[in-house]
Amino acid sequence: MDQYVLVLNCGSSSIKFAIIEAKTGRSPLHGLAENLGTVSSKLGFSYQHKQHDGELPVNTDHQQALAVIADTLKQFEHLSRRIVAVGHRVVHGGEYFTHSTLIDEQVIHAIEKTSLMAPLHNPVNLTGINSAQNAFPHLPHIAVFDTAFFQTMPKHAYLYALPYELYQQHNIRRYGFHGTSHYYVAHEAAKALKKALGNCNLITAHLGNGCSIAAIRQGKAIDTSLGFTPLEGLMMGTRCGDIDPSIPAYLIEQLGYSASEVSELLNKESGLLGISKLSNDCRTLEQQAKEGNLQAKLALDMFIYRLVKYIGAYLAVVGTLDALVFTGGIGENSAYVRESTISQLQHLGLELDAEKNLEMRFGQSGLISHNSSKPIFAIATNEEWVIAKDAMLYVH
Ligand code: ADP
Repeated sequence: MDQYVLVLNCGSSSIKFAIIEAKTGRSPLHGLAENLGTVSSKLGFSYQHKQHDGELPVNTDHQQALAVIADTLKQFEHLSRRIVAVGHRVVHGGEYFTHSTLIDEQVIHAIEKTSLMAPLHNPVNLTGINSAQNAFPHLPHIAVFDTAFFQTMPKHAYLYALPYELYQQHNIRRYGFHGTSHYYVAHEAAKALKKALGNCNLITAHLGNGCSIAAIRQGKAIDTSLGFTPLEGLMMGTRCGDIDPSIPAYLIEQLGYSASEVSELLNKESGLLGISKLSNDCRTLEQQAKEGNLQAKLALDMFIYRLVKYIGAYLAVVGTLDALVFTGGIGENSAYVRESTISQLQHLGLELDAEKNLEMRFGQSGLISHNSSKPIFAIATNEEWVIAKDAMLYVH
C-alpha cells in the first residue's frame, strides 16, 4: 500500500502543505494557507489538479490554520489514513544539524537556539511543529533543514574574515540555504550522467525569488552564495545580494536610516525590484525589456552578470566540471536568462543547444547543452520529495 508523508513549510504569514507519495514524489493534494494574522486569511488546495479555495476567519494564526488543514485532510480519508510521517522544512539548523532528524525536546531546543539567526523563519517553523504535533500526535515528526546540505563546507569557505571570536562566541559564519533544492537537483543530475553523486563535480544554480548557487565537489557542497542569512551572493527578486558591507553603516550614519529600515531596504526593496522599479517578477521584466523598458533590461543584465561571475568563480573551485544545473522558478523556466548567462561563458566550455533550451520549461527537466559543451541541465526541483524521503527514514 502506498505510504504518504505530510510535508509542511511554515513561512511568516503562510503554511504550504503537501501530501507526498514517498516512493514517487507525486503529490495528490497540496495547498497553501496564506495571509495568516490578517483580515484576508485564506486557504486553498489542489486535489487531483482541481483547485478549491476558501476564506479563513479574520486573523487566523498558524495554530488555527493547521487545525483547519488537519480537518481538510481528514475529508480525504483514503489519503490521510496512509500518512505515516510529517516532514517539516526548517530554515536554519545552525551548526547543530548536518542531517534531517526526528523531532524531540532536544531538537526543539536547538532550533530555538538558532532562532536568533533566523528570526523571521525559525520561530514560525517551531509554531508549525508544535501545532502539527498536536494535530497529528501519533505520527513521527521530522525536521529537514535548509542549511544541512552545506554543513560539509570547509572552514576556509564558510568563515568571514572578521575577528575570529565572532564565529566562536556568536556563530557568525556562512551557512547557506536552499540546501534541499541543491541536493535534489545534484542528485538528479548525477542520475542523468549515470554517475554516483559522490563522483560528480557540479555547479547548481537555484534561481527563484531567492537565488543561490552552490559548488559541489565529489558530491559534497564546498561553497555557496547565501551566507549568514539568505541575503548574500546573487541578485534576487527583492534582495540585494553582495554589496560593500560599509553601505549599511553609511545609510545609518549619513542618511539617517534606522537599522530596521536598512534591513527592510536590503531584503524587500532591492534586487530586481529595486533596480527595475517595476517588479520582482522575472516574467514581467523580460516582457518589459522586450518592449524597450531600459530599467527592466538593466535589472536583468545585472542579475545575469552577477550569475556569470559566480559561475566563473565556482568553475575555479570545483575542479573538472561534470555539469551545471539550473533550477528554481527562473532557472527552470527562463530560456532568456539561461541563454544570456551561458552565452557569456562560451570561452569556459559552456554552450547551449538553442532548441533544447526553449523546450526545457514548465516542469520539463533535461539536458539543454550543445553536444560540444560540458553538460548543462534544467531540472525542476522537488524539495517536498527530499523532505518526504528523509522523513521516511524514521518510519518503521
Ligand atoms: P520562490 O523562491 O518563492 O519559491 P520560485 O522558485 O517560484 O520562487 O520562482 C519565482 C520566480 O520565477 C519569479 O521571478 C518568476 O517570475 C520566475 N518565473 C516563473 N515562471 C517563469 C517563466 N516562464 N519565465 C521566466 N521567469 C519565470
